[in-house]
Amino acid sequence: MEAYERLIRYIGFDTVSDEESETTPSTAKQFDLARELEREMREMGLQDVYLDDHAYVYGKLPATPGYENKTPIGFIAHLDTVTTGKNGPAAYQIIPNYDGGAVALGESGNSLSPEMFPHLKDMVGETLITTDGTMVLGADDKAGIAEILTMCEHLLHSDRPHGPISVCFTPDEEIGHGAALLDLERFGAKFGYTADGSAVHEIESETFNAAAAKWEIRGVSVHPGSAKDVMVNAARVATEIDHMVPAGERPRDTEGREGFYHLTDMSGDVSHAKINYIIRDHDAVMFEKRKQVMRDVEKAINERYGVGTATLTLVDQYRNMAEIIAQYPETVEAAFDAVRSIGLQPVSNPIRGGTDGAQLSFRGLPCPNLGTGGYSFHGPFEHTSVQQMDKAVQVLEAIVDWFAKR
Ligand SMILES: [Zn+2]
Repeated sequence: MEAYERLIRYIGFDTVSDEESETTPSTAKQFDLARELEREMREMGLQDVYLDDHAYVYGKLPATPGYENKTPIGFIAHLDTVTTGKNGPAAYQIIPNYDGGAVALGESGNSLSPEMFPHLKDMVGETLITTDGTMVLGADDKAGIAEILTMCEHLLHSDRPHGPISVCFTPDEEIGHGAALLDLERFGAKFGYTADGSAVHEIESETFNAAAAKWEIRGVSVHPGSAKDVMVNAARVATEIDHMVPAGERPRDTEGREGFYHLTDMSGDVSHAKINYIIRDHDAVMFEKRKQVMRDVEKAINERYGVGTATLTLVDQYRNMAEIIAQYPETVEAAFDAVRSIGLQPVSNPIRGGTDGAQLSFRGLPCPNLGTGGYSFHGPFEHTSVQQMDKAVQVLEAIVDWFAKR
């Protein structure tokens, strides 16, 4: 079975995750796809296939005889998708022999065009897979699952030698919980790769450092007619805090390796207010400096209005995995060589976000991210092609070869 045929099958399962939920998986329907994968993996002949209580599906492809001592590597992709309001199986279109023009997305009035998405020019002649313009396709990350299992199937039906290979499909990546309950002992790999990126030639091994800054502001509410030098208006203090956060360092103003402070939400009245930020920076020193800026603001506010007016809580969320990956350069070298082996020029750009691999890297599984051949994730313009997915499979196979030869 080809990778795209698997993708079409998997996107028939609605696996939207839910940020509000406190269970894992956050939505029970993720189990439907997890069970389907469990069945498919057993049928295919993978070993130690196991679906746990949290909808993580594990499987192994044992080494070919004589290759048992090669470095065990693993591949990871996620089951869930983001919501776009409309749920249910994804409605898709297959456009054979793409002519390089605009593609109408169903009846939605939206169209995919090379003006918006210049990479489409390189996909002329390919078989595009798009949405109908009303919801996500779910190639993020069902394309990753499809490619990993297609790679396993190819290896099972070939005599290409390989070391021990593990696979794991996880729930709830989109709400930041995909890596937390992955059982690394069961997984058993020394290095991992998430197949959860976009263009096939892109290898991602650097994420943001991330923290949340949560502010509670306590005001002093008195009659406004007799408020002189007494009233502390918590809502106004919240806006004052925002003015003290460096201007020009917001998501709107930054790109590449530039970090930011992002006001996510604020609410309040005279007696009480909250204002929340997320802080992001690739550079660990700059990241610490940004947190210090917040602490300095807290100090200044409390000096101005009295101790206990503003209370800042800084919560670290994830760290830049480059710190760990740098200790295991072979993980990235293998991926670069794999991309070159299929005739593409590899690139590595810092991710302006995080991946499950960031958390896994710090838990002891160095884990760069690979491209799946899908584009424009998280919206109705999401698309991929049969040929890009095939290339992604070839990259996975070339990584397996790379480790088998060492
Ligand atoms: Zn994803």
